[in-house]
Amino acid sequence: MDANDGADAPYWNGLAEGRLMLPRCGGCGDWLWPAVSRCGACGSETVEWIERPMRATIFSWTRTWHRFGFTESLDLPFVSIVATVDDCGIRLLGRLDDLERIDPVIGEAIAGRIGATRVGTRDIPTIIWSRG
Ligand SMILES: [Zn+2]
Repeated sequence: MDANDGADAPYWNGLAEGRLMLPRCGGCGDWLWPAVSRCGACGSETVEWIERPMRATIFSWTRTWHRFGFTESLDLPFVSIVATVDDCGIRLLGRLDDLERIDPVIGEAIAGRIGATRVGTRDIPTIIWSRG
C-alpha cells in the first residue's frame, strides 16, 4: 500500500496487522468516525485508538450483479454492507460472505475477519463479514 499518514492511518495500519482499531475521543469518550484529529463534540485533540472485536450488526446491504471500476477481483455477485460495530456505533463499509446467496437481514449479527480486495496491483485490507 501507499504510505498513509491521514487521520485514519491507524485504522488502515490496524487492518494490515489483522486488528480492528477505532478512534475514541480522549476528552469526552465519544467514538469518532470518520477519523478526525480533533473531536467535534468537545474540542479535544487527544484521539485514542482502541482495538475492537470484529462483531457488528448489518445496518444496510446491497448485492452487486454488474461489474464497475475497481471490482475486477471480485466474483459476481458480491454483497457490500454497512456494518454497525458492536458497542460503539461506528459504521464501516465492508463485504459479506455470500456463498449461500441468502439475503442479509437488517440488524443481523455478523463477525468479521480481515481479508483483502485487489484493486489494480494493490491488495487493500478489507473486513469480510460472515453471519453469526
Ligand atoms: Zn470529545
